[in-house]
Amino acid sequence: KEYAEISLKDIDQLAKTSFPLCMRHQFDKLKEDHHLKHGGRMQLGLFLKGVGLNLDDALAFWRAEFSKKVGLEKFEKEYAYTIRHNYGKEGKRTDYTPYSCYKIISSTPGAGDHHGCPYRHFSEENLRAALSRMGVNSRATEDVMNKVRNRHYQLACTLTFEALHGVPCDAGINHPNQYFSDSQKILHP
Ligand code: SF4
Repeated sequence: KEYAEISLKDIDQLAKTSFPLCMRHQFDKLKEDHHLKHGGRMQLGLFLKGVGLNLDDALAFWRAEFSKKVGLEKFEKEYAYTIRHNYGKEGKRTDYTPYSCYKIISSTPGAGDHHGCPYRHFSEENLRAALSRMGVNSRATEDVMNKVRNRHYQLACTLTFEALHGVPCDAGINHPNQYFSDSQKILHP
């Protein structure tokens, strides 16, 4: 499947307006720590491919962060391969598909991991703080927390989407890339 391209210079803005919380969290952590463990590199990396970041921009994006932490040489030697791999340019040349909500919710992030679904994997306190940073108001936050308590994680994400965009999302959220494209359709009709 071909995707419309997005530009590297727009990515910070797009992360704020149109990334679902799972991707927004990893994006922020990557900027903060200049590093993401394997599970995060896969989940965020394939999402970014799905939203239309081309391979050269993806390499530039990861290189800019990782080189601050591990240096340029180590980045090229140890990490660039995985990114090319995600784009099907190395190994079996499989074109990897971005992960669905189902797959992300079923994952089991360990200590120091930032992948997974925040509605499923964050503590209540961390989730509330994250929603507040996103700009979800307190009434909507209570509705979201209610869904989380009933283990309806995708509905919790759907309510977040609706609170932030001010319109209903009747189809519900079932894929992070769908969250992104639905958001862009509303913001740039
Ligand atoms: Fe991401 Fe899906 Fe969880 Fe929303 S429900 S945060 S899109 S995994």
